[in-house]
Amino acid sequence: MLPALQKAYAVGAFNINNLESLLAVVEAAIEEKSPVIIAVTPSSIKYADLAYIGKMVKVAAESTPLPMSLHLDHGKDLDTVSECIDAGFTSVMIDGSHLKFEENVALTKRVVDLAHPRGVSVEAELGRLAGVEESTVKEKEAILTDPDAAKEFIKRTDVDALAVAIGTSHGAYKFKSEPKLDFKRLKLIRERINTLLVLHGASSVPPWIVEKAVKYGADLAGAKGIPEEHIRKAVSLGITKINIDTDLRLAFTASIREFFVKSPKVFDPRKILGSAKEAMKEVVKSKMRLFGSSGKFL
Ligand SMILES: [Zn+2]
Repeated sequence: MLPALQKAYAVGAFNINNLESLLAVVEAAIEEKSPVIIAVTPSSIKYADLAYIGKMVKVAAESTPLPMSLHLDHGKDLDTVSECIDAGFTSVMIDGSHLKFEENVALTKRVVDLAHPRGVSVEAELGRLAGVEESTVKEKEAILTDPDAAKEFIKRTDVDALAVAIGTSHGAYKFKSEPKLDFKRLKLIRERINTLLVLHGASSVPPWIVEKAVKYGADLAGAKGIPEEHIRKAVSLGITKINIDTDLRLAFTASIREFFVKSPKVFDPRKILGSAKEAMKEVVKSKMRLFGSSGKFL
C-alpha cells in the first residue's frame, strides 16, 4: 500500500509557473521535511516553456533527498502527456472528465499504456468540478463522482490516482453561500477503491490573505474557499493528494501589492519577487502542516 494511504496524510501538489514559485514550494518542503509534488498545467507550460520547467525542477530535485515528483496537471491529450514524459515528468494527469464514461476510460487507458512502461504514474478524473481551470465549467455542469463508477473506472484503466468531485471547485470563488463537501460520497468511494484519491479545487482562500490584497487595492469581492476543517476531514476520510494553486496566486498578489505600496522607492525585481516568494512559501508550509505531510520525511 502507498505510504500516504497507510499513514492518513495527504501530499500537496503545488502549481508553479516560474522560478520564484518553484523555490517557494521546494524550500517549504525542505523546511517541513515533507514529500511534495510540483504541478504544472498546460497553460503554465505555454507560459514558461516545457524545457525550462523540466530542467528547473530537475535541478531542484537534485538539490535535496526529499521525495519530489514533477506532475502534469490537467493534461488534455496524448501529445501533451508524451512531451511531458520526454521532458522528465514523473507523473501525469489526463483529464477526460468532460468526456462520456466510456470515452474517459479509453483515453485514460491509452495514457496508462504509454506512461506505465516508462515508470510514470497516471492520474485521471471522474466526475466534474465547477470553476475556472483551463476553461470555465459552470456550476450546473458540475457532476459529483459516482462511487460505483469510480470502482469500475479504476478496474478498467489501472490508473494510479483518481481525482474525485465531491463539491470542491477551481478558482477563488468557490461558493456563493456556505461551503459544502459531500463527505458521505467520499467515504463510499474510499470503501470501494484502494488507490490514491485526489482533491482538486481545494484552496482555502484564506481571509487574511484576501484582506491584505484588498487593503492594497485588489478587487476580490466574493472570494471564498474550502475551510481548513473540511480539508482535515477529507484527509481523514482518505484523500491522499491535494492540489493547491489559487492560494499561492493570492499570496503572491497580496505580497506584491503590499510591497509596492510600502516600498515605493524600490525597483529591484529580486526584492519585489523575493518577498512574494516568502509569502508563497509560508502558505505552502501551512498546507503541509494541514495535510499532515510535515515531518513525513526525516
Ligand atoms: Zn484541478
